[in-house]
Amino acid sequence: MTKPSCVFCDIIRGQSPASMVYTDEQAIAFMDIRPVVSGHLLVIPRVHAASLADLDAGAGAHLFRVGMKLATALRRSTLRCEGINFFLADGVAAGQDVFHVHLHILPRFQGDGFGLRFPPGYWDLPGRDTLDALAAQIREAL
Ligand SMILES: [Zn+2]
Repeated sequence: MTKPSCVFCDIIRGQSPASMVYTDEQAIAFMDIRPVVSGHLLVIPRVHAASLADLDAGAGAHLFRVGMKLATALRRSTLRCEGINFFLADGVAAGQDVFHVHLHILPRFQGDGFGLRFPPGYWDLPGRDTLDALAAQIREAL
């Protein structure tokens, strides 16, 4: 099901333009209108899901499968692509700005200017006790 107020659902319904790269029964992929790097793609499920928690696990797996196909295509293409990043923002704190799950596929090359910024303290490695305690907290939530 699509959602009337969703810009990505508008693209799925053909009510908003997109530079389409891939479509199948479950997902579509198109060019990001604000590319971080040239060739930046988005893969979205056809069914509206605001967050990962709302997304069927099979549909999530399919997004990754399509992402892999597109990564192969980017590497084969004439676009500059020496590497690939997949990025998925789930929630405002993670940088999600469109609330329809989307997987970014980013072709990368040395000197492209994009990168991840690590927080202060990143180089102070946590001890094994800390890692074990964190692992236990997450295991309890599984
Ligand atoms: Zn939507």
